[in-house]
Amino acid sequence: MHSLYIHIPFCLKRCIYCDFVSTIYDDSKASAYVEALKHEISGITKKSSLATLFIGGGTPTAISTELLSGFFKHVFDHFKFNDNYEASIEANPCTLNPEKLLTIHDAGINRISMGVQSFNSNELSFLSRIHSSHEAEHAIHMAKEAGFNNVGIDLIYGIPGQSLESWKKTLEKTVSLKPEHISTYELTVETGTELDGLLNAKQCPSKERPLSTPVLLSDEMIVEMYEYAIYYLTSQGFIHYEISNFARPGYECRHNLNYWDRGEYIGAGLGAHSFLHGKRFHNTDSLDRYLTSVQNNATAVENSEDITCDSALSEAIFLGLRKIGGINIESLSRRYNVNILSSYGSEIKELSEAGLIELTTSNCSYETDLKLTSKGLVLSNEVFLKFI
Ligand code: SF4
Repeated sequence: MHSLYIHIPFCLKRCIYCDFVSTIYDDSKASAYVEALKHEISGITKKSSLATLFIGGGTPTAISTELLSGFFKHVFDHFKFNDNYEASIEANPCTLNPEKLLTIHDAGINRISMGVQSFNSNELSFLSRIHSSHEAEHAIHMAKEAGFNNVGIDLIYGIPGQSLESWKKTLEKTVSLKPEHISTYELTVETGTELDGLLNAKQCPSKERPLSTPVLLSDEMIVEMYEYAIYYLTSQGFIHYEISNFARPGYECRHNLNYWDRGEYIGAGLGAHSFLHGKRFHNTDSLDRYLTSVQNNATAVENSEDITCDSALSEAIFLGLRKIGGINIESLSRRYNVNILSSYGSEIKELSEAGLIELTTSNCSYETDLKLTSKGLVLSNEVFLKFI
């Protein structure tokens, strides 16, 4: 096990599109949770040192500086880390101050991923984000002053009311802040979220909201926004290395690359997923059940699934295709002891003919890569469905 994910589920306010495992911050619940998390972490066997750590949420930085400090000490005392480890934390701009950022950085966290989403105040307000555009900008400056030299900015496009012009301005502002990493996610409407309710009811939750009738953007506009992001960010020196992710050379998120390479990882905390020894399992999503189980030295794992050989191969293909470089047919065939071009011959032929994927052979190695085309990037879900 070389990668560890830790989930901290607290947020100061719920965003309307959120379907992550998150709950409203409460001092006493946060203290109890951090204690339980330390307990769970103490029980994780340390077979090898960690290459990557990712602390996500929720909003991990909603936790007080004091609690975070004790928690990081526990994590870094318990695990050994590789010399060039990557340790990321997700942050909401509104929950940061110089002291908290210094504490996080000095504890050993060397990458911060800032949930900015937009630099347009109407869009931030629509999404129910708690920070302003100015606060996001200030938080990024503070992170750099605290010593972070690997800062990521997460953005959302396809927000009702958003124009291509406003998306361009958000991207330009983002690049001007000189982050090392940028993620651009299409707004998705998950069943049961407040956004889902709004779109069904066609009304806003409060009179103050500036965008009075939320209407989803057209598919054409979404594609235009996505393609503009690729064009603009690559023209600014970012490497487009995964469907939604861009990085300065050498700053690709190694923790997420491990997921797309179908590497093993272990997850700790509420709702956290793990993948070990060919088995996927995940902790309970119920905060009360999580606290009770961990306090009673019982497992918080609620579900587990053995992955069959066929599923393993299909996972490796559709996860690997998320990377712009795609998958190497020969090495994947060796790893899964199967001839991929025979096993998935008809799917590969059909998708190639539709212009969604392409096979390329390197002149030096005579090995073949399979990757999404530009059209396939836009229609990636259609491609993945063929391999599931
Ligand atoms: S900050 Fe993230 S996890 Fe928290 S409510 Fe908003 S989208 Fe959900």
